[in-house]
Amino acid sequence: MTPEEFRRAGHALVDWIADYRAKVYRGELPVLSVNKPGAVRAALPAAPPGAPEPFDAVMRDLDAVILPGCTNWQSPDFFGYFPSNSALAAVLGDFASTGLAQLGLNWQSSPALTELEEVTTDWLRQMLGLPEAFRGVIQGTASEATLVALICARERATGHAAARGGLQSASKPLVVYVTAHSHSSVDKAALLAGFGREQLRLVATDDAFAMDPDAFAAAVRDDIARGARPCAVVATTGTTGTTAIDPVDAIGRVAAEHGLWLHVDGAMGGAAMILPECRHLWTGIERADSLVVNPHKWLGVSMDCSTYYVRDPQHLVRVMSTNPSYLQTRADGATINYRDWGIPLGRRMRALKLWFLIREQGVAGLQARLRRDLTLARWLAAKVDAAPHWVRLAPVPLQTVCVRHEPPGLSGEALDAHTLDWVGRINASGRAYLTPSQLEGRWMVRVSLGVEQSERQHVEALWRRMREAAEGRSD
Ligand code: PLP
Repeated sequence: MTPEEFRRAGHALVDWIADYRAKVYRGELPVLSVNKPGAVRAALPAAPPGAPEPFDAVMRDLDAVILPGCTNWQSPDFFGYFPSNSALAAVLGDFASTGLAQLGLNWQSSPALTELEEVTTDWLRQMLGLPEAFRGVIQGTASEATLVALICARERATGHAAARGGLQSASKPLVVYVTAHSHSSVDKAALLAGFGREQLRLVATDDAFAMDPDAFAAAVRDDIARGARPCAVVATTGTTGTTAIDPVDAIGRVAAEHGLWLHVDGAMGGAAMILPECRHLWTGIERADSLVVNPHKWLGVSMDCSTYYVRDPQHLVRVMSTNPSYLQTRADGATINYRDWGIPLGRRMRALKLWFLIREQGVAGLQARLRRDLTLARWLAAKVDAAPHWVRLAPVPLQTVCVRHEPPGLSGEALDAHTLDWVGRINASGRAYLTPSQLEGRWMVRVSLGVEQSERQHVEALWRRMREAAEGRSD
């Protein structure tokens, strides 16, 4: 494809994306893909084309085959999982990044890539109200960031012994503390970092599903008494199920007393800290050794852009650094080489999409949107509280409302069946999407607000649909 051919095809693609977004924003496409499993595969040839195809043919298949197989995460009626916003300014940033085709291996391989990442992660640090001591890097996902955090914790606890002798050199089992409401990525990270599931301690939670710091302290003391080595604790600011807020300050005090690494998982909820009025939710964050916030969730940067902050970059570099001769340059020492700040060697210019978004929206624009979402969540929570036989199952510190419709006489499995039935009918209608999930062994429905285009009328319509589906009425 020549640059001129690219110009024509590119304009067509930008038009296509703009039309697609307009349709999604107007609610003209089903929120959840209605495809049956295998439909996309069956519509595509099993073997690649031998001869070149016209670009128009690719565009036709984008419409005919790919689009019906897409769940429309940017729909204002999407209330599932968590918001995975992809603001159009960030889409353009990603496009520019692909067009520039930079590959960061060291500073010299793309000075702009490195320095833009330094600047944008520091902008975000300031927006989140984090102390200056924190230094940021963009990772692919929170799962990756948490894995890096636990590896760093392991290496600090063992004085880098694990790097030398591997798993065999640990004299005592190293323990990681989480709660039953921590994200599954923490379990996976503990497994991959070599702790083993048996050394993952589930700390008791309070009525709001947040870690009980006294129970954490007691678990640490018990483990020391049995000859184990407490190594790291992961506190979550906004758990996936209910957006529970673990008390970072109290957890951090216990961690500091016993020399544990404190990692804070703010993958979803951390974005709220761009609002000064929310920062009390992670009071004590300055105690964290590392933390992760995903701009690719609520904030609006297209997947993938997960910001990982550390208080001691030298330790991170010592753990992650490899330094083959072909990557060494004269600039080493005077510049950052982000390959030493995480797992992959090569990196894309992901900072561009964060930069585009922050500049196009301004901090004030991003703050206004998140404030709108918090207000809407409180509005919905009040409606649920006031409606007969509807139960709100958790506090609403952020943008997620956990609910159940509990008609008189229904309990246990019958209640589960009712919950899955009404939410299933809403989802199958294509008019809205909600995620059912289990809380303390019973099904409930998470209403996760925060899609960029979701306004008051969409949340009102959702509440009407929920009442119609669950009760057969809509007042
Ligand atoms: N942590 C929390 C609290 C989350 O809600 C999620 C995603 O749902 C993750 C971690 C994992 O995020 P990622 O997909 O970036 O690995």
